[in-house]
Amino acid sequence: TIASEARGSAEYAAALQALDRKHLIHPHQNPTRTERNIFVRGKGSVVWDAADVPFIDGMAGGNWVVAVGHGRAELAEAAAAQAEKLEYFSLWREYSNEPAIRLGARLAELAPAGMTKIHFTSGGSDGTEAALKIARRYHFERGDTERTWIIGRQFGYHGTTLAGGSVSGMDDMHFGAGPTMPHVAKVSPPMLSHPEMFGGQDPTDFLVQELETEILRIGPEKIAAMIGEPVMGGGGVIVAPEDYWPRIRTLLSKYGILLIADEVITGFGRTGDWFASAHYSPDIIVTAKGISSGYAPLGAVLMRDEIGEVMVGNPEKFFFHGLTYSGHPVACALALVNLDIIERENILGQAKKIESWFTEGLDGIRDLPNVHDVRVHGAMVGIELTADPDTGEPMPFDRMVAIIDDLRGKHRVLARDYGPTLVVGPPLVLEEEQAAEISAAITDVLRTRS
Ligand code: PMP
Repeated sequence: TIASEARGSAEYAAALQALDRKHLIHPHQNPTRTERNIFVRGKGSVVWDAADVPFIDGMAGGNWVVAVGHGRAELAEAAAAQAEKLEYFSLWREYSNEPAIRLGARLAELAPAGMTKIHFTSGGSDGTEAALKIARRYHFERGDTERTWIIGRQFGYHGTTLAGGSVSGMDDMHFGAGPTMPHVAKVSPPMLSHPEMFGGQDPTDFLVQELETEILRIGPEKIAAMIGEPVMGGGGVIVAPEDYWPRIRTLLSKYGILLIADEVITGFGRTGDWFASAHYSPDIIVTAKGISSGYAPLGAVLMRDEIGEVMVGNPEKFFFHGLTYSGHPVACALALVNLDIIERENILGQAKKIESWFTEGLDGIRDLPNVHDVRVHGAMVGIELTADPDTGEPMPFDRMVAIIDDLRGKHRVLARDYGPTLVVGPPLVLEEEQAAEISAAITDVLRTRS
C-alpha cells in the first residue's frame, strides 16, 4: 500500500512505479521500457506526474482523446449530477435513458445530412466491430447475402479487438494470436511521402486503380464495405490528397460497397470540422475519444438513415448487437456538455489555429537530414524520420524512443512514436505559447538526435 501523505514526492512516485510494474499489464507495452509516466492531475494542456512535475500534454491524454483539455469542473459536475440522479440504465431492447436520447438527437444534428441513426458504444474498437456487422447485415437484409468482405488499408488502425485488428494494417497486433478474421483485404495507404509506391503515377490515380483491381479480384458482389480513417492516425498522420476520398467514394458506390469512415481520432474537431469525412459522404461513421473528451469512455456509430432503418426493420431477427455500456447515462450526460464546450469555445476554429502554429513552428526542421516529411493537418502532426537520408531507411525503434525520452526528460513535452513517425496530437485548447514550446522542443531534440 502507498502512504497518501507522501503524495507528490519522489518516494510516492517510486512506490506507484513499483506497484504498476508488479500488477498492471499495459495495452501495447514494450517490456524493455520499464519506466512508467504516471500522471495524477491536469489542467488545460498540462498534466502533473506523481512527483508533481508538470508536462505539456502533446498527445491529449496520450491517445488523442482530451479534446477540450484536462480538469474541466463543468464536465466533472455534469458526470456527478447524472451519477446521483441515475448512474446507469441499459439501452438494451426497450429500455432507454434520458442522456442517451438527448445525445443521440444532438449527434444527429451535428452529423452529415441524412445520418440521423446512432448506435452507442464504449469506445472505438467496439465501434469498428459494430460498423462491420452493420455493413454486412445491411447487405444481407437486402438479399446480398454474399457481401461479407471488408477492405482495409495497410497502416490503418481501427481497434485492437479481433475484428478491429483484422481490418487494421498492423500485423504485430496479431502476433501469436491468429488467425485473424477471414474475408478481409488490404490496399495501399495514400502515403505521399513515399512516391516510389505509386510507380511514377499520380498517387490518387494509382490508389483508385489498385482498389478497383482488388474489388474485381475479390468480386464486387462479395464486398460489404471499405473502412478508412480520413487522416490515418496510428499509421503516423498520413494525410490523403484532396481528391482521394471523393474518388474512392465514387468507386465504391459504383460497386455497391459501403464506406465506413473511422473518425475515432478525427471526429469532433481535431481536423477543424465536426467530421472530417462529411464532404465525401460516408455511409457509416465510427466515433469515440473526442465525443466525451475522455471524461468517460464512450463512442458512437453514426449511419445513414436507410442503413439504420434496415437494422431495425426485421421483426423476426432483430439487431442482435450491443454492449452493456451502450448509451451509458453518465458518459452521455457529460458528452452533451463536452459538445457544448466545443461549440461555445469554437474548438473547431482552435484546431485550425493549432495547425497554423505547428506549420510555422516546425518549418525549421524540414531541412534536417533525418527529417523525411513533416505533416500537419488540424491538430495532428506527424514528423517522419529516417535513419539514413540516402537509403531512406526508417528511423529504428530505439532511436525513436530516445527522441521521445528526450522530449519528456529535457523539455517536459509528451509526444508519441508511431513507427518512424514522431506524433503530436494535443488537446484542442492548446495555447499558442504551448505550441511554440512543443515546436522548439522538437526542433532542439531533432537537431541533437538526428
Ligand atoms: N480507430 C482509430 C482511428 C483509433 O485511433 C483508435 C484508437 N486509437 C481506435 C479505432 C480504437 O479505439 P479504442 O482504443 O477506443 O477501442
